[in-house]
Amino acid sequence: MTRTRFAPSPTGPLHLGHAWAAMVADEAGDMLLRIEDIDRQRSRHEWEAAIYDDLRWLGLDWPEPVMRQSERMAAYGAALDALWAQGLLYPCTCNRRDILAAASAPQEGAPLLGPDGIVYPGTCRSASRTGPRPNGVALRLDAAAVDDLRWTERGAPRTMEAGAFREGIGDVVLARRDFGTSYHLAVVVDDAAQGIDLVTRGADLEEATPIHVALQGLLGLATPDYLHQDLVRDRDGKRLAKRDDARSIASYRAAGWSAERLKTRLRDSRIAPY
Ligand code: GLU
Ligand code: ZN
Repeated sequence: MTRTRFAPSPTGPLHLGHAWAAMVADEAGDMLLRIEDIDRQRSRHEWEAAIYDDLRWLGLDWPEPVMRQSERMAAYGAALDALWAQGLLYPCTCNRRDILAAASAPQEGAPLLGPDGIVYPGTCRSASRTGPRPNGVALRLDAAAVDDLRWTERGAPRTMEAGAFREGIGDVVLARRDFGTSYHLAVVVDDAAQGIDLVTRGADLEEATPIHVALQGLLGLATPDYLHQDLVRDRDGKRLAKRDDARSIASYRAAGWSAERLKTRLRDSRIAPY
């Protein structure tokens, strides 16, 4: 059986987009649950408890124990060590303003936007990569190490050439100064550790997928299949956001919706009822 996962962050109420993501994961295979709580500032135990309530109310279940990213720092450290030992990472001390200034320099043209914002202009690329892996500083991947990429989306082949990765995505941060890891690194290490065959998630993360495929290659991990599902939108076509409490699963439940009715609604249309 295909193994899938639902990987919410406990930083607010789950909304209809999360309900749809969990339904897709559940219907596509055996769904594992992972709590993505590396952002210790924004993650709350109450939100984690609310995730379990909402998913149970939707009629979903999952095997225990649930994986929690906050308990996995050693695994992320080991992956960073492996990349550092190969000379693929470098420390970066730039702040947002430095990056914007360097990327907007006259010879650079207009700053290019990648999945993580402005494509890093490479200011710190010549920083030392020897000695023990530095802590308390951001570490970037040297995109020159990335080969041509291949993966599948909804069963169809996708590719990205190494040059397109370097120019359009660039040297992404794999360890944030404040977290000691990053979403990209953690998601790749954990999808592999959980033996995920098919990653299902919202279309907003589709453009980050080449980063994940690149990391799988550099870390010697298998690349799962990907399926990015439609985002749930409001009637104006705007995608729902975490702070959109009015569209939370809990609020529909409080308004008397049954789980079956809500699920039918989501299957029929990815437009929030109100
Ligand atoms: N934790 C992410 C979120 O809450 C999802 C990450 C993923 O599915 O890869 O949107
Ligand atoms: Zn820098």
